[in-house]
Amino acid sequence: MIPFLDLKSLNMKRATELENAFARVLESGWYIRGKEVESFEKEFADYCGTQHCVGVANGLDALVLILRAYKELGKLKDGDEVIVPANTYIATILAVTENNLTPVLAEPEDRTFNIDAAGVKENLSNRTRAVMPVHLYGQTADMAGIRTLAKDKGLLVIEDSAQAHGAYDGNRRAGNLGDASGFSFYPGKNLGALGDAGAVTTNDAELAETVRAIASYGSHKKYENIYQGVNSRLDEVQAALLRVKLKYLDEEITERRAAANFYLSRITNPKVTLPQVREPQAHVWHLFVIRHKNRAALQKALTEKGIQTLIHYPVPPHKQKAYAAWNGLSLPVTERIHEEVLSLPLWPGMGQEQQSAVVEALNHAA
Ligand SMILES: *Cc1c(COP(=O)(O)O)cnc(C)c1O
Repeated sequence: MIPFLDLKSLNMKRATELENAFARVLESGWYIRGKEVESFEKEFADYCGTQHCVGVANGLDALVLILRAYKELGKLKDGDEVIVPANTYIATILAVTENNLTPVLAEPEDRTFNIDAAGVKENLSNRTRAVMPVHLYGQTADMAGIRTLAKDKGLLVIEDSAQAHGAYDGNRRAGNLGDASGFSFYPGKNLGALGDAGAVTTNDAELAETVRAIASYGSHKKYENIYQGVNSRLDEVQAALLRVKLKYLDEEITERRAAANFYLSRITNPKVTLPQVREPQAHVWHLFVIRHKNRAALQKALTEKGIQTLIHYPVPPHKQKAYAAWNGLSLPVTERIHEEVLSLPLWPGMGQEQQSAVVEALNHAA
């Protein structure tokens, strides 16, 4: 049996260090907003190349809080349009609607699964105020073009980097490619906690302070509340664990790239469309996503060989009940992607024998 992801073995590799990190927090007697969070925020900001990082409770909150902070700062207001990829994981869109902003769904580029400047341009209106590119499956969107357009039109650029820790666009990393970025450290992400966690990165000190305040009951200072805030904090235990995992992130990205290159060079089934890599450092392979016109049959053939695959994602946001008003929209590129994509097993350190078995099964499938 080849699992989709062997998360347990990944974390067990660091068991001693993770246990020591937990013990350090336990023994400190300090569990919320202490040294571990402060240190992690510095280390993760350095990693991304940004001036600021604010730890929050999860990735969705990171995105919600960025938009909320821009509203408090007067840069966004109710009803403003925010361009988002139509094929994203629904969290990106939930962050927009949660803030009474209007998502405008843009079709992605067919080959990279990401929106580009041309796709953004097609969806501009006189109410557009922001664009939220998502670095889907671990590959950065073509951000240089998006930034140029955004600058020209006066739009905010908010990255959803939940799947792309460490990915580059040119010589800058995800998290440092726009005005602000949201990260998730959900356990299965490339940098994963042992529970929920997230962060906001930015070079804008005022935005960072505002996010921090909103996430702490709307308060910069104890018992002084300037916003109607929420409670969304990264806690000391998760921060301590993330500090351990962050040290190994680059090594793990290298291993993911090796595994992805193995698939790319050996999968030869002409009916399988392989993922396209925009530039070598752009992709950190959170997911290895192939396409096939008869996905159900392919998935069944792999399952019969004991190979577990997943679908990211089976139903696009505009076809969900949660967004019933959009159910009639026609977004053909997005809809085809959702019908055809299949994610293969891949994790750092996945054995070549396991990978060969996946390749073999794929190349022999109809
Ligand atoms: C995981 C994910 C999120 C949400 O992160 P959580 O930590 O699960 O809240 C947002 N956007 C994308 C693209 C994601 O993959």
